[in-house]
Amino acid sequence: MSTQHRDGSERINIAIDGPAGAGKSTVARKVAERLGYIYIDTGAMYRAVTLGIIRAGVSADDHAAVAAAAASFDILITNEDGRQEVLLDGQQVTQEIRSREVNLLVSEVAAIPAVRELLVDKQRNLALIKGVVMDGRDIGTKVLPGADLKVFLTASVEIRAQRRFLETTGKQQITLEQLRREIAARDKMDQERTVSPLTRAADALIVDSSHLTIEQVVEHIIELGRTKLAGAK
Ligand code: C5P
Repeated sequence: MSTQHRDGSERINIAIDGPAGAGKSTVARKVAERLGYIYIDTGAMYRAVTLGIIRAGVSADDHAAVAAAAASFDILITNEDGRQEVLLDGQQVTQEIRSREVNLLVSEVAAIPAVRELLVDKQRNLALIKGVVMDGRDIGTKVLPGADLKVFLTASVEIRAQRRFLETTGKQQITLEQLRREIAARDKMDQERTVSPLTRAADALIVDSSHLTIEQVVEHIIELGRTKLAGAK
């Protein structure tokens, strides 16, 4: 259901889910920018919690300690001029949350029920105002099951690994094959966990970005949004 915004325009909420490296964050950010909506990167929240426990020396196996630490963190995500900044307890961690160390641990931390409860609550509160584009793994199924437009953005694991490889060249010593294996392992954990696994909501529209440019995907989602808005009137 769309609602009228303060400025009189009709706005909807858009949920974008999908596996690692499908381009969700880039696409979601651009869609939000074009529509003048708020972009919420839920993966960044799980990443910030993961970095926080690494720094605090808390073992991911100790679920109670992870939950307590997660509840004590102050996580702030800002988006200005198309740039996202992530602050953990007041400290800038925008780059660090994308490190390989975090990549390797984040799915384990994200599978802890108490961590999910805490973050899902925050995410729902952030989406109380209409005009939100939120990306993650469980947005259409769990966080915003009533979202007006749900997209399941995917691409083959080879293409996703290649894209990540190009992004990381020069920054991390990692081969394409290693990246492919790590992405596949993260997908598997995200899909097989008991709490809110990565799965396509029944009413989500599949967009396969394997052979599309970012701009083409953005355009397509905006068009889908227009159709939803027109249908809601
Ligand atoms: O989207 P991104 O790759 O940054 O997410 C990092 C990890 O956080 C995912 O692999 C997944 O384990 C977890 N996540 C999640 N639920 C979300 C968003 C991210 O479990 N809504």
